[in-house]
Amino acid sequence: MRVVKKFGGSSVATTEKIKNIAKDIAKNYKHGDEVVIVVSAMGKTTDELIKLAKEISKTPDVRELDSLLSIGEQQSISLLSMALKEEGCKAISLTGAQAGIKTGGVHTKNKIESIKADRIENHLQNGEIVIVAGFQGVNENGDITTLGRGGSDTSAVALAAALKCECEIYTDVTGIYGVDPRVYVNAKKLDKISYEEMMEMANLGAGVMETRAVEIGKKYGVRIYVGQTLGVETGTYICDNSEIIEKKAVTGISINKNVIMVNLENFSAIPKNVATIFNNLAEHSINVDMISQNEVENVKGSIGFTCPLTDEHFLNNSLKDIKKHIPEIELTKRTGVIKISLVGIGMISNFGVAAKVFEVLSDIDAQFYQCTTSEISISLIIKESDAVKVVERLAQVFSI
Ligand code: ADP
Ligand code: ASP
Ligand code: MG
Repeated sequence: MRVVKKFGGSSVATTEKIKNIAKDIAKNYKHGDEVVIVVSAMGKTTDELIKLAKEISKTPDVRELDSLLSIGEQQSISLLSMALKEEGCKAISLTGAQAGIKTGGVHTKNKIESIKADRIENHLQNGEIVIVAGFQGVNENGDITTLGRGGSDTSAVALAAALKCECEIYTDVTGIYGVDPRVYVNAKKLDKISYEEMMEMANLGAGVMETRAVEIGKKYGVRIYVGQTLGVETGTYICDNSEIIEKKAVTGISINKNVIMVNLENFSAIPKNVATIFNNLAEHSINVDMISQNEVENVKGSIGFTCPLTDEHFLNNSLKDIKKHIPEIELTKRTGVIKISLVGIGMISNFGVAAKVFEVLSDIDAQFYQCTTSEISISLIIKESDAVKVVERLAQVFSI
């Protein structure tokens, strides 16, 4: 059997852990399987590398940043390859570029454009375990690129698509739960979840899988298994919706702490002004998320939007600019908020989900500042201090 197995940062955090993983992979190898391994950087290495760069510059050069961040995964592949050789396996480590992973886009947020898997195929034919550095590739200039945080998942699923096999993602939890089990201990593990629901949950903050990884899985029909590193419990399959018999109204709740909310008030919210505002935010590379607008005609119009808290530095610059263009505008930033999102394909055909959500908020007297919906989700901005209470009650009401 051929398989791509990916081990996340916490699973390779120490050399002891790397040795234990190598012992386990050696069993697959000795069984005659064709094994490709993708690894992340050890523990919090990527965060530490970012911290180093920020000690030099508030806005580090992105080409250099990519080059710096890629070393985390390179350390892991070499150590794992050495550990596998100690176990008597033939093994070879490859960087993203050596593995034929070509990317396009902008530095630090690259997308995989193609994978030329010939070299991996040759090594597999030669009876070697191939260990590929996750999170990285090479662009058309021959420069090292990275795929955005959590991008090793994407490397793994894209490789599984290119090598036409299943992808197993090993991490520090026993599978995908309706709610992050670190936030709600009574959360239930899912046996299966559809690509669509997982994509929505990931996009809305469930960090257990990277959104693009799931998107690639759906596009190329790669079944993705998520389980615990060296665990014995069965994990969760991310698969086609047709494989899921019971379609609940709400499958899961995502929590996103990386949120800041902005209110713009007392200005004429005519399209010209609104265009000025959002063009300015785009020029500062701010990823605007939820937008709501009231009183279009009135001179006392208002707009609210959210964006990532990690963009705050760029946001401050943009808001200063906006004030220059529209001097009468009143700007308020709201931090200490959190976005919670209920996700479920069943929402398409079930009614009353929103009603139940608002009833929960009313019961526990929790304020919400903004609300948006998609076909399969409802998102709310609430006070961070209310989050645990709200999530627990919603999880109970929707049995997740
Ligand atoms: P890795 O380093 O292995 O990629 P991550 O930290 O990226 O691990 O993802 C695993 C974490 O995802 C878990 O520790 C858990 O706290 C978090 N998580 C968030 N939402 C969920 C969920 N719905 N189910 C399981 N884990 C979740
Ligand atoms: N090491 C990278 C990160 O921390 C990629 C990954 O872990 O998936 O984001
Ligand atoms: Mg991850």
